Amino acid sequence: MLTTPNKKRAVIIGAGPMGFETALRALDRGCEVTIFEAGRIGENMRQWQHVRFFSPFGMNISPRVRQALSGNTLPADDTILTGGEFIEAVLEPMARLPQLEEKIHCGQRVVSIARAGLGKMGLPNHPLRTERPFRILTEDTEGREKIWEADLVFDISGVYGQPNWAGTAGMPACGERHSNQRIVRHLLDFDGSEFKRYVGKRILLIGHGHSAANAIVALNNLSQQAPGTQIFWAVRTDRTKPILEVPDDPLPERAKIANAANEIAQKPTPNIRILRRASLEALWDVNSCLKARLKVWRNFEEIEIDEIVALTGYRPNLDMLRELTAEFSGISEGVNGLYRALTNITDCLAKIDIKPQALQTGEQNFFVVGIKSYGRNSGFLLQSGVDQLEAIFSTL
Ligand SMILES: Cc1cc2nc3c(=O)[nH]c(=O)nc-3n(C[C@H](O)[C@H](O)[C@H](O)COP(=O)(O)OP(=O)(O)OC[C@H]3O[C@@H](n4cnc5c(N)ncnc54)[C@H](O)[C@@H]3O)c2cc1C
Repeated sequence: MLTTPNKKRAVIIGAGPMGFETALRALDRGCEVTIFEAGRIGENMRQWQHVRFFSPFGMNISPRVRQALSGNTLPADDTILTGGEFIEAVLEPMARLPQLEEKIHCGQRVVSIARAGLGKMGLPNHPLRTERPFRILTEDTEGREKIWEADLVFDISGVYGQPNWAGTAGMPACGERHSNQRIVRHLLDFDGSEFKRYVGKRILLIGHGHSAANAIVALNNLSQQAPGTQIFWAVRTDRTKPILEVPDDPLPERAKIANAANEIAQKPTPNIRILRRASLEALWDVNSCLKARLKVWRNFEEIEIDEIVALTGYRPNLDMLRELTAEFSGISEGVNGLYRALTNITDCLAKIDIKPQALQTGEQNFFVVGIKSYGRNSGFLLQSGVDQLEAIFSTL
């Protein structure tokens, strides 16, 4: 791997949209680029391929990617694509570009990163540390491991694979870990193969973010097609409209889903029960079904359910970074400086002037980019990621 002398060797972890964006920039800088992807191209986005973006296509593609794909017919800027359509229109054609094709290693999960001969405690903050290349351990789908070297590392591995617990205050509810296999934590595809599983079942949905809004709209449709289906929607808030709506939302698709979900919450059909100010306290198996104990306002309630869908957000996996001197916000678990810059920003469309310094991790030449850089803050947009890269590459 990476043999040309004097060229910086850049490793990119993750072949999602921001991974490709970074790869183009690194190539423009004359780096030797290698992309490791644990699954397939756009693996995380594939998990929500049936769900629509809320930002129009023109907001989700940078001039650099547009130019790289200039030989392809791209969707119109005002199109609202599903995740799957974005993969087809952008990510897969990117992966086929001659300048990238050979550089992508799918099915290679990064397991651990350190500096050659130096773990976390080795010469922290010393200039000599920076002289040592990074060593990266990967594992392929058959369990074969390999060590690679790099001068620059961009961790763009997303958060979608690490859901938050459904219990209150970020902790697992009692029994949640034991029943983990039975909890669905991804966005359901009710138009596809997952439909049958939920027909006629008692389903507990937990969460009141954008993903939960999508889910309740789909579950509401399902309960109309299959009237025996019973839905409990547990939300932590006491608002009559649980999904936050942005006044005069400039993103009509976001407004549409939020409105639709809030309407269901305000006028639920007889087979939907809204549990406001509710938190999951305990979960346990009872024969083939589950029992959930919820605190609803001040009272406790036990309900019997067949399925549980917990859409309570995601967090980054920092395990593979343990031997780096990178420091993360103890609160958001994202990049420290970004956490501070984003404090009190509630609208993801707000233009924030991110200084390059805010994106330094504390480990020279190691960067966390894309949705992972936001940690548990769910306000990441692709266009914010492009701004991040602008700032990072201005310092390289
Ligand atoms: C339902 C949903 C809707 C969204 N809608 C919008 C929207 O409308 N507009 C918008 O701007 N943003 C939206 N986002 C947010 C964000 O833009 C997307 O999540 C986007 O996919 C983030 O891109 P990324 O490249 O940072 O990470 P990801 O797309 O998550 O890519 C990370 C990649 O890294 C791989 N990976 C993970 N771990 C490893 C490892 N150890 N080794 C190697 N590879 C690894 C994963 O398999 C994955 O392919 C949405 C997010 C969700 C979940």
